[in-house]
Amino acid sequence: MISADLNIILPEIVLAGFALLGLLGAVYTSKDKAAGVLVWVTAVVMVLLAAWVAMSGDGTTNIGAFHEALNFAVIWKLPVVFVCENNLYMEYTPIADVTAVEHPAADRAAAYGLPSIIVDGNDADAVYRVAQEAFAKARAGDGPSLIECKTYRHSGHSRADPAKYRPEGELEKWKEHDPIKLYRQRLVDFGVPEDQIKAIENESKAKVDEATELCKAAPLPPEELLFTDVYADGKWSWRN
Ligand SMILES: [Mg+2]
Repeated sequence: MISADLNIILPEIVLAGFALLGLLGAVYTSKDKAAGVLVWVTAVVMVLLAAWVAMSGDGTTNIGAFHEALNFAVIWKLPVVFVCENNLYMEYTPIADVTAVEHPAADRAAAYGLPSIIVDGNDADAVYRVAQEAFAKARAGDGPSLIECKTYRHSGHSRADPAKYRPEGELEKWKEHDPIKLYRQRLVDFGVPEDQIKAIENESKAKVDEATELCKAAPLPPEELLFTDVYADGKWSWRN
């Protein structure tokens, strides 16, 4: 999927799906007073803000947290846009091997009273159009939307994963539908001069290179940070 969609639609807040559920679900389950207050404050802030975005992958749709978050968001009519980046693969498993429906997010939307929205996640303009509608709905106070962006994962799940489980030729086929390649051609079709497109490409590459070098040169975080904010009591020795 085109990660740049976040820049295009300029969401006020981007939140991972699990974090959202943590906030929503804790309202009903938390016995911790402070956590309960935090949850309610967050819920109020959510309503005051124009719209939130919760990004998740296709694998998340087979986890209970995803469904609980959707249910609460609809029940409370929250201004949330759920975006599922369906790149066809969970960590090491094709989503189709473990899912009863073709569209893991959109086909389940009806269970929460939401319309099925499926979009070509490699087409920036298409994503922009559906996102605009979803944001308008959220900002109008008409509740959440769930958008399934169909795309492909060009690499393995991690650097240690050569992704040999993919069928031969699949990657090459999807590379033809690469979002950057598609958009470049669209600009050409619109009559944007080649030198202008080249300048945009060079500028983008330079920004990525600069960010990469910045990260590589940054000092390693101290060991003390390993367990910071990991457990509610601030410590981890109780687990031993
Ligand atoms: Mg995936």
